[in-house]
Amino acid sequence: MNLEAVIGLEVHCQLASCSKIFCSCPTKFGALPNTQVCPVCLGLPGVLPVFNKRVLELAIISGLALSCKINNHSRFHRKNYFYPDLPKAYQISQYDEPLATGGSINLDGKKIGITRLHLEEDAGKLMHAEGASLVDFNRCGIPLIEIVSEPDIRSPEEAYAYLTEIKAILQYTEVSNCNMEEGSLRCDVNVSIRREGEGLGEKVEIKNLNSFRGVEKALHYEIERQIEVIKSGRKVFQETRLFDEKKQVTFTMRAKEEAKDYRYFPEPDLLPLIVEKEQIESLKSQVPELASQKKERFMKDYGLSEYDAKILTSTKEMAIFFETCLRSYDKPKIVNNWITTELLGLLAEKKKKLADSLVKPELLTKMLLLIDDGVISGKIGKDVFAEIFASGKDPEEIIKEKGLVQIKDTDSLYLVIDEVLSENPQAIKDYQEGKKKAVGSLIGQIMKKTMGRANPELANQLLLKRLGEDI
Ligand SMILES: [Zn+2]
Repeated sequence: MNLEAVIGLEVHCQLASCSKIFCSCPTKFGALPNTQVCPVCLGLPGVLPVFNKRVLELAIISGLALSCKINNHSRFHRKNYFYPDLPKAYQISQYDEPLATGGSINLDGKKIGITRLHLEEDAGKLMHAEGASLVDFNRCGIPLIEIVSEPDIRSPEEAYAYLTEIKAILQYTEVSNCNMEEGSLRCDVNVSIRREGEGLGEKVEIKNLNSFRGVEKALHYEIERQIEVIKSGRKVFQETRLFDEKKQVTFTMRAKEEAKDYRYFPEPDLLPLIVEKEQIESLKSQVPELASQKKERFMKDYGLSEYDAKILTSTKEMAIFFETCLRSYDKPKIVNNWITTELLGLLAEKKKKLADSLVKPELLTKMLLLIDDGVISGKIGKDVFAEIFASGKDPEEIIKEKGLVQIKDTDSLYLVIDEVLSENPQAIKDYQEGKKKAVGSLIGQIMKKTMGRANPELANQLLLKRLGEDI
């Protein structure tokens, strides 16, 4: 029997608004517990929510970037459930009339549909420690968008690619910092198995996924588990499972609730959301060039390979870094090489992010110009670059301090060449007997003696002259 997995993803993303969705409390991450709260987000009786206009703008920009239709009329609903981190005992969310619908993203030519994008408030955070459970309400009322995919995803790898693309789009549009460690981006997945061509099987939801790799691993496990259940003639039950990252398995958390369990009803304290066409049009101009468009442009305008263009556009700041370099050094391929090999290599080695790096575009291009002018060789450039990375110093200063200027004057080079030749009579003999590759080892020694500072072309030319060649 031909079985296939059908995967759906729900991404929750915190919008980059300075204040909460229905009150003016700040949203800054990391404040002391319960210091960013007020009667509204604490759900005290007798207060009314006031909708934050900036949150709506950010949500519309997100919807536009995901090619969604922004609905002229949408509304908030109450999603009723009790949990200690939810003081009102209901969450204000959107139900059957979401803000945006019918979007899509493109994954290497395959279109993945986005069913809906809706607004909602976050709940608080429970912490279990030292035999007690504590609750921090700072997160209550933090503005979120939930992005729900169509059941178009078929493999864990595709789910990973989808999440990466969604994150890139949201980061490019600057609607969120998408910081997963701070919980700004979270996702739940659901997966069912069906016989090819038949209707969908029972859906299992997996929660507690802290990373995109975690999603991929949980899906691998869960797909295999469900296939085994089906093959053994048993039934898969609709349920919510948790992923245990250490053991790499999923386990039952609870039977899955259905929409009817939440007793949704329209939020009586808020008016329906009316979005005028003019507002959508004016926000369209705030959707920037996205990663996929930038990638195409980098390939076309700068002649880069798809692989390189993808790396350079993987984050907005990297793309900006690259194009800033080009303003003072117009050789895209060279700049690309230095970024993708040297800079990214050092960042990975030192576990740093580009934003924390001391290498600025002007320092890199200044060094590249020094290489082009012959002040230093490309090889020495790598040492200079490592020093810029470590100290953030100006390349000229580094070259001066470390005495790295390239040796280009004939007299100085002849002194070294003659010394090397006098130490290597055998190599000269080999050369005269036709073993031309003896030159390589002689050049190697010249470079060693000058600590890589000899100008390679000139050294080569002068050496051949000394060996009696007529150049
Ligand atoms: Zn508040």
